[in-house]
Amino acid sequence: MAKKYERYKLFTIDDNKLVQEHRYCPKCGNGVFMAVHENRVSCGKCGYTEFKKK
Ligand SMILES: [Zn+2]
Repeated sequence: MAKKYERYKLFTIDDNKLVQEHRYCPKCGNGVFMAVHENRVSCGKCGYTEFKKK
């Protein structure tokens, strides 16, 4: 049970993060979101990738 709850919590936090960090692809323009990964964002359409610095 505890494991399940933790997973739900993580998912919720992650979801908020995605909303905040989601940006449009600079190459494809409006309407094409960048996919957010742990250390980078990338466009699934053209393959454009930006690495995040922490
Ligand atoms: Zn793109």
